Amino acid sequence: MAHHKFFGEFSCECGQSWKSENTYPDEKQICFTCKTWIYPKHLRPLRKTPYQGRYRAYGWFNCSNCGKEWSSHNSWANMGQVCYSCDIMIYPYRQVKLKRGKGNPNTPHSEKYCEMCRHLKYNCKDYNPDTDTDTDTDPDSDDHASDYNDDDRYY
Ligand SMILES: [Zn+2]
Ligand SMILES: [Zn+2]
Ligand SMILES: [Zn+2]
Repeated sequence: MAHHKFFGEFSCECGQSWKSENTYPDEKQICFTCKTWIYPKHLRPLRKTPYQGRYRAYGWFNCSNCGKEWSSHNSWANMGQVCYSCDIMIYPYRQVKLKRGKGNPNTPHSEKYCEMCRHLKYNCKDYNPDTDTDTDTDPDSDDHASDYNDDDRYY
């Protein structure tokens, strides 16, 4: 199995904490304050999507296996959707943050094909990132999706 890197957060008993993009789950890093080697406390996948904020985005997908294209109002940073023909996880090649983080409540969204829904264990249409305690700042610019053709097929 390949040795995958993660984005890791370390928190030492001495109070020192740091983050590293070169983290392996089974490898310790040294605390520069007290010189103790510790394992990562949290692991996050490295950047898999263009958008890295915590809000809902409009995403465009293109299956690398069958070429199927689709778009979704419920696309998230580092989260993919499953191509329902091939049953493989696809990450969006383009994403735009939605206005005020709101999805379109009128479009159906299948939990079965959405990595975010699986991660949350409920439909991500009901997820409000503003109630999340994650204090990460949103690095994305203020560009918003506005007018999309609702005839598109959404998950
Ligand atoms: Zn320490
Ligand atoms: Zn496919
Ligand atoms: Zn979802």
